[in-house]
Formats: sequence, structure tokens, C-alpha cells
Amino acid sequence: MKFTVLTLFPEIVEAFFTSSIMAKAVERGLISYDLVNIRDFAYDKHRTCDDAPYGGGAGMVLKAEPLAGALDSVGALEKRVVFPTPSGVPYTQKRAQEYASLDEIVLICGRYEGIDQRIIDLYVDDEVTIGDYVLSSGEISSLVLIDSVYRLCDGVITQESLVEESFQNSLLEYPHYTRPEVFRDLTVPEVLMNGHHAKIEEWRMEKRIEKTRKNRPDLWDLKKSIE
Ligand code: SAM
Repeated sequence: MKFTVLTLFPEIVEAFFTSSIMAKAVERGLISYDLVNIRDFAYDKHRTCDDAPYGGGAGMVLKAEPLAGALDSVGALEKRVVFPTPSGVPYTQKRAQEYASLDEIVLICGRYEGIDQRIIDLYVDDEVTIGDYVLSSGEISSLVLIDSVYRLCDGVITQESLVEESFQNSLLEYPHYTRPEVFRDLTVPEVLMNGHHAKIEEWRMEKRIEKTRKNRPDLWDLKKSIE
């Protein structure tokens, strides 16, 4: 799978692609990426990429021409273009799974007040929000998407790690424990120590339900409504 990222700050995004598990996935040819600097497509003397909003108001807006140049340079009209923005639809694990099944996604990193609406009208397929809060940069929200997608791609991490994760079957994950057996007087639940797989599975399912009902009653209600 390929991630094409349009940004004014490629160095922020590059750090993720060259570190840890992602770096290994790139090295093994499972993931590829292309970082496009939007400023390379600003042709005035000062290579301006932002301007004041029509109608007045605070802040600046990313201009349409450099963004369009960057998008055309990667053939964006033929690709799935995603713009992370607080005013998008909620980003979910289901959408991450959908993106992981594609050959490529193109991400636009917003800045300032956002991007000229005509870029959204002409190029963007999906506007998605990573949560009900406002970040200052689209690099961070794009990296959230990239991180959630690439780990689902074949061969990046073991399938087993993905099976009982949070959001599978509308349930959150069960608690994990590792050595030592006693930490500050707290012991590992007995059931995890006895090697009885059926009982462990049963305990884990109970914990998943308990945690979902406590932390995400909305998910629990959804699960009940579709059963
Ligand atoms: N004026 C915009 C609004 O009120 O919706 C906020 C712009 S924000 C300061 C700058 C950029 O950060 C956005 O264009 C977007 O790319 C990114 N961003 C901020 N919060 C986000 C969120 N919750 N989800 C996705 N992207 C976000």
C-alpha cells in the first residue's frame, strides 16, 4: 500500500515513515510513501501558500493553486483523496479497514484555518475527523490515519494481534498483564496463570463486555441494536 502525503512540513511526516515498525514495513516493501511539499507548487516570488479568507475573519487559508498543483502532480483525480478535518465525518476502525484494502490513498495536510473549499469540491473524496477537538496541524491527523491503516496491511504485524483488538465486534479490548506476577501488591488474575484456554477466553470476553459497558456505553448500545 502507498501513502501519498501533501504537506507544508514533510519532515514531520518523514520521521514516522523512517522509524520503528513503519520503517521495517517500508524496508520490506510492504508500504511505500511519497511526500509532496505543497510549497514546491507555489510560483510567486515568496512561494506563498496561504492567504486571508474572503469575507474576513481570523487566520489564513491554504490557497487553491499550490494545492491543486501538488494534487495534479500525483494524479489525484484518479485516486482516493482524504482530507482530515475537524468538520469531517468521524474516522473509525471500519474506515481504517477499508483504506487498508486500497492500493493508495492521498492525504492532504491542512494548516491554519483549513484549505480553500474549491479543493474539497474538486478533489476530495472523504473528509474525516479524528475526534471532537481541534489540532493545529493536519500532519498529526494524517499520521493518525496512516498509523491506523498501515498496521492492518498484510504482513506488517501478525494477524493474531489484530483479531481481538478494540472495536472488533463493537467491543473494547480485555486487560493485559505481563511479568512480574506481583506488582505493588497487585497480582495477575489467577485465571491467566493456569493455562486453561477456554476459561481464559471466557474471562477475556467478560472483561471486554465489562469495559465496553463502562467506558463506551454508545458502542455497547450499538452492539445490542445489531444483534
Ligand atoms: N478552522 C478549522 C475548523 O474550525 O474546523 C480548524 C483548522 S485546524 C486549526 C488546522 C488543520 O488541522 C485542519 O485543516 C486539519 O487538517 C487539522 N485538524 C485539526 N483538528 C483535526 C481533527 N479533529 N481531525 C482531523 N484533522 C484535524
